[in-house]
Amino acid sequence: MEGYGAVPKPARHPSFALILNGFLAVSGETLRNRKCFAAAQHRAYLSSWDVAAFAAAQGPRGFALRAQEYQHTLQGPAIFAGVGVHTGEYIRVAVRPAPAGSGVVFVRTDVADRDNRVPVSGEAVTKTQLGTVVENAAGVSVSTIEHLMAALVMLGVDNATVELDGPEMPIMDGSAEPFVQILDRAGRRRQDAVRRYIEILEPIAFVDGDKSATLKPSDEFEIAFEIRFPSAAIGRQYVDLPMDERAFRSELADCRTFGFLHEVEALRAMGLARGGSMENAVVIEGDRILNPEGLRRPDEFVRHKALDAIGDLYVLGAPILGRFEGVLAGHAVNNQLVRALLASPKSWRYRTLVPEFAEAV
Ligand SMILES: [Zn+2]
Repeated sequence: MEGYGAVPKPARHPSFALILNGFLAVSGETLRNRKCFAAAQHRAYLSSWDVAAFAAAQGPRGFALRAQEYQHTLQGPAIFAGVGVHTGEYIRVAVRPAPAGSGVVFVRTDVADRDNRVPVSGEAVTKTQLGTVVENAAGVSVSTIEHLMAALVMLGVDNATVELDGPEMPIMDGSAEPFVQILDRAGRRRQDAVRRYIEILEPIAFVDGDKSATLKPSDEFEIAFEIRFPSAAIGRQYVDLPMDERAFRSELADCRTFGFLHEVEALRAMGLARGGSMENAVVIEGDRILNPEGLRRPDEFVRHKALDAIGDLYVLGAPILGRFEGVLAGHAVNNQLVRALLASPKSWRYRTLVPEFAEAV
């Protein structure tokens, strides 16, 4: 299987060729000699992203782009089912391959009278109290997308159609591990288009009292998170990890969501958390963990918060080249950071890992 190791620093290649809309081919040497042309190409690439204007091609000396430089989708569909943590409904899901440049799009197959496609974007996030909810202009929504989104971005899946026959993604075991296994079973397929990353150019933060979320420049994706709870079952926990596919699989994917028993009872009284149980969450009462099996890791809580943040950032539609730091942050703060980033064009830029295009902005 193709590797998705740490995002490499761009390396110089002797030459390469790009095909734009199938009619234009230029060599790397030509590009270097004509920077303005390269910049124009880059703008064309960004402006025509939805139709995946750029197809990466083999260069005259057989140079091939590395896996991280291409977009990927699934080999075939991944079918599964499970219970939604809040609705308690049994939801059937099919994650299907999707064309280059289409991103992640949820499709509510149970909705026939309105637009049932819910494309993921920073602005599509409408609720964040209990999980991340995306909604389209017709008011059709999908809840609790964050754990699947984390698995998709860290396994390098750029484009996927997620069909589901209810309003909420199944919670599975409360972690991203089942989604990793499902995506592994489906397999990944490289697409004929260049992947774009969001490169953080200057620090940007969202602060709400003692809660904060920050993105800072870094050559690689890194994630740091701190939580503090009065319960001795959690206390203060801190994690700081360089994050790539391997690290996600080994350090974060299996870490489950958690909640306090009194909160779960309050949510149930409001008609929520109907599907919540110790089958899909770590449940805490006072200073005690109620799950008989205990924790998967001593700091499972903060690791789950890091997992959530990765999923919440992927509503941006591209992986981050930068460092995320969260302090007591939840889905709401994460999404406010996403919106602050979108409103601050000088703080970031799209870039590819193809050297000539990385320089062409
Ligand atoms: Zn979560």
